[in-house]
Amino acid sequence: MITEKVKKQLTSIVGKANATFTAEDLICYAYDATNKSYRPEGVLFAGTASEVSEILKLANVEGFFVVPRGAGTGFTGGSLPVKGGIVLSLERMTKVLDIDRENLTATVEPGVIPWELGQALAPLGLFYPPDPTSYKFSTIGGNIAENAGGPSAVKYGVTRDYILSLEVVLPRGEIIRTGTKTMKGVVGYDLTRLLVGSEGTLGVVTEATLRLLPLPESKKTLLAVFPGLMAAAGTVADITGAGIIPATLEIMDPASVKCATEFTGSTLAEDSALLLIEVDGTAESVEKDSESIKKIAFDGGASEVRSAFEKKEVKDLWKTRRAMSAALFRLKPNKINEDVVVPRSRIADLIKGIREITDRSGLLIVSFGHAGDGNIHVNIMYDKNDANESEAAEKAVAEVFELTLGLGGTISGEHGVGTSKAKYIGMELSSETLCLMKGIKKVFDPQGILNPGKIFPSHEEEGYERAGVVR
Ligand SMILES: Cc1cc2nc3c(=O)[nH]c(=O)nc-3n(C[C@H](O)[C@H](O)[C@H](O)COP(=O)(O)OP(=O)(O)OC[C@H]3O[C@@H](n4cnc5c(N)ncnc54)[C@H](O)[C@@H]3O)c2cc1C
Repeated sequence: MITEKVKKQLTSIVGKANATFTAEDLICYAYDATNKSYRPEGVLFAGTASEVSEILKLANVEGFFVVPRGAGTGFTGGSLPVKGGIVLSLERMTKVLDIDRENLTATVEPGVIPWELGQALAPLGLFYPPDPTSYKFSTIGGNIAENAGGPSAVKYGVTRDYILSLEVVLPRGEIIRTGTKTMKGVVGYDLTRLLVGSEGTLGVVTEATLRLLPLPESKKTLLAVFPGLMAAAGTVADITGAGIIPATLEIMDPASVKCATEFTGSTLAEDSALLLIEVDGTAESVEKDSESIKKIAFDGGASEVRSAFEKKEVKDLWKTRRAMSAALFRLKPNKINEDVVVPRSRIADLIKGIREITDRSGLLIVSFGHAGDGNIHVNIMYDKNDANESEAAEKAVAEVFELTLGLGGTISGEHGVGTSKAKYIGMELSSETLCLMKGIKKVFDPQGILNPGKIFPSHEEEGYERAGVVR
């Protein structure tokens, strides 16, 4: 419980305009995209690394929890104050501090929105590749904490591949810099890579230096229409197997296409499975790859492959794809959105297994995602007020994870563990690995002040393992 005295101290650190303890404000910061709610005891909007440092130092003295927050778009409860304490919002730190054209880097504060950075870079002929579907409303700090990835990960990789250096405030308040601005650097342990994807449990990112790339000369969009999801899934591995790495390779099942087109009012109403593919590079390589992909798609059973799109049509296609997650709520009031990944060659097996789970559970399970890198969003739709459906949904989640691990995959490629997946982490990681990770947390945060209740299962949930899972 935060006392009145501590509230005053916190207010004096960030200023009156940047601290709130009123119920109506606290409710606004009680949510993320998981649709669960935990009300914080206060919300602070930090403006500098020193403010973050002072807050954390005070937290260690007074013994209250601090939960970092970007835009609150996380899918696993990472920014929720599940054990109380204050929410530390970085949304006010929105400066692009530097764009260095010669060294192809940008240095930003954590509250910068990736799309806005993209708008500043495009006129310079540059881009920052990580593009989570939430790129227009999540923050780069949150992307770093979750190691976010998006459609372009198939060719360009994920957030971790573009972080050169970080300024981080450690849980006890020390401010450190990790990495360097150089392309190479191997001095000491790679703390940058450890902090990226650490879900706000090891430190608060207050600045990041990002690697940029020159914009490709040419880009082409293709839409391959298949009678069913299995044929579309099989074609994914055929494309990469032919040595072609598209810039994006997205898969959508008929139910998600129908839902999203109705939601956006797009004309793409198909009762088919789709592959949305983009190739980029030189004009010559783009033409060559597009022709090869068309042939592979037809060989794989596509009924049609469209490619001559106007700029507006491409925008509409992506609008529909990006609306998919939200559109699914038209089907059922609740969903569990899993982000499993399997080797590309096993996508068809994953789809087949999900179909079996769907039939067994009697639930509606909708799949789409970044098939090019093996990452499929499995959306288990249910009504939480229906006890049978809720129980079936929980069971289906465990079955999807078992299936994924059996195919050599991982239970999360994007959203992290947070609170939602904590109880399943033992299915993928051995107890020795988990013990090492807990030890790392203890070194960074001996008092457990920063973002408690995340990643590691609570005492009651421990031991949720699958015997025989290959580790
Ligand atoms: C419609 C939709 C589509 C999405 N699509 C994708 C997708 O394609 N790919 C993908 O990877 N994710 C996706 N997400 C999930 C989400 O957008 C990402 O996880 C994103 O990176 C979260 O950013 P945020 O700023 O909202 O962070 P929050 O949700 O506020 O926080 C997420 C985690 O980061 C920590 N955190 C936030 N800022 C900092 C900081 N400065 N320092 C330390 N820790 C911090 C928090 O404590 C928390 O643990 C999607 C979400 C939605 C709603």
